[in-house]
Amino acid sequence: MPPVLEVRDVEFSYPDGTRALQSLSLGFARGRRTALLGRNGAGKSTLFALLNGIERPGRGEVHFDGAPVAYDRGSLRQLRRSVGVVFQDPDTQLFSASIREDISFGPVNLGLPRGEIQQRVEAALAAVGLTALAERPTHALSYGEKKRACIAGVLAMDPRVLILDEPTAGLDPPMAAELMILLNALHERGITVILATHDVDFAFAWADDLCVLQEGTLAFHAAADDFSAVAEHFPGLGLELPWVYEVFGELWRKGAIDGETPPRTRAELLARLR
Ligand code: ADP
Repeated sequence: MPPVLEVRDVEFSYPDGTRALQSLSLGFARGRRTALLGRNGAGKSTLFALLNGIERPGRGEVHFDGAPVAYDRGSLRQLRRSVGVVFQDPDTQLFSASIREDISFGPVNLGLPRGEIQQRVEAALAAVGLTALAERPTHALSYGEKKRACIAGVLAMDPRVLILDEPTAGLDPPMAAELMILLNALHERGITVILATHDVDFAFAWADDLCVLQEGTLAFHAAADDFSAVAEHFPGLGLELPWVYEVFGELWRKGAIDGETPPRTRAELLARLR
């Protein structure tokens, strides 16, 4: 099966000449959870802008569902319905008076029948746990609630791929844990989820696949289950190792823990110690 989204030998430079991506080929498999890592400026946001057609590559191709993206209005509309992006700063994404109005915006724009709009909005509100706050003005929400409202706005478009830029930035640990539960529920529904994060612990615990970008190129793309094969590259890429992985390694070298497969979460690590 072809990847649901793919970039092939893509190059992208901004108008001021900054080259953000070069010779980048990368596919996102259908139904997988992918975490994109890399230092600031590595090209993660630029890649996301290419994946939903906000930007167009200078060279190379973007493929959706096995076919190259066409850049006419209709095709872009279709692409953006299917590939939803949640940006890092919720204040740039929320613009309507109330949460409900904000979430309705996309489906209304699609020209959907009233009943379906209502149904989608209610489902999106429920998915992110904001039903009780639906009429609340968007400016009167906490940061975490704003982030969830943004996710709901994208969900109401019924996307096949959900892309999130730094979704855990600014969230406290319980909120990040809730976000993980939400993303997993969406993944269970068959949505392909791709996110960029600086939180290697979150990435390691949550993702099926880990991709690392470095200066606009792909450093590696590996299954999280095969992390041991790529872990040695992390420090050289300016990334810390997930703490669970590091602690497991120390315990394993001391003969204090059994098994070869590193646990991915705190709970798994503790369970293995007992
Ligand atoms: P990341 O999301 O990994 O932090 P970005 O995709 O934002 O990386 O940036 C990749 C490169 O493109 C960096 O060198 C950055 O400075 C540059 N860049 C990003 N946006 C612009 C822009 N609008 N104009 C010029 N250069 C930009």
